[in-house]
Amino acid sequence: MHYHVLTLFPEMITQGLGTSIIGRAMEQGIIELTATNIRDFSKNKHMKVDDYPYGGGAGMVMQAQPVYDAYLHVVQNMKTRQRPRVVYVTPQGKVFNQSMAREMAMEHDLILLCGHYEGIDERVLEEIVTDYVSIGDYVLTGGELPAMVMVDSISRMVPGVLSNQESGETESFSGNLLEYPQ
Ligand code: SAM
Repeated sequence: MHYHVLTLFPEMITQGLGTSIIGRAMEQGIIELTATNIRDFSKNKHMKVDDYPYGGGAGMVMQAQPVYDAYLHVVQNMKTRQRPRVVYVTPQGKVFNQSMAREMAMEHDLILLCGHYEGIDERVLEEIVTDYVSIGDYVLTGGELPAMVMVDSISRMVPGVLSNQESGETESFSGNLLEYPQ
């Protein structure tokens, strides 16, 4: 399982996920994580990635061009030629749950796109995004924490990540019930 996170803050992703069970799974090569800095694909001489929304309204949005070029870079460097699943984390998406984690754990590659500011120019979302996912009905500053929540939860469902003692089979939400008191 290879996660490709498109973000303006790659260090947040790599530092936040490098410990404990997920860090160990990366060391063992069971999962891979690449965080790509969208800003590196800016064509602006000041490396600007935001702009005023074309339709007006408050705040700034992430421009389509650097997001699209970062996406192309990731796709061109993938081992598979299949069109990858691209999740845009957004409060407007479907609320993430355990069965989505289980289902996404079957992908070989998963691109997670993190927004910032007021979000991302809709034109690039229409072009590349396959899934819109929210981690709950509240608004965060950026998509990095939601992407990290998803990587952590999905990885627990990837075979080999949990040892037998840590088995996910009896965990809360594995059926319709919560786990017994420990
Ligand atoms: N203007 C947007 C709105 O009202 O829906 C909120 C933008 S938010 C400040 C910036 C970014 O954080 C979003 O583009 C998204 O990627 C991420 N984000 C914020 N809250 C989130 C949530 N609950 N679930 C998933 N992503 C979230």
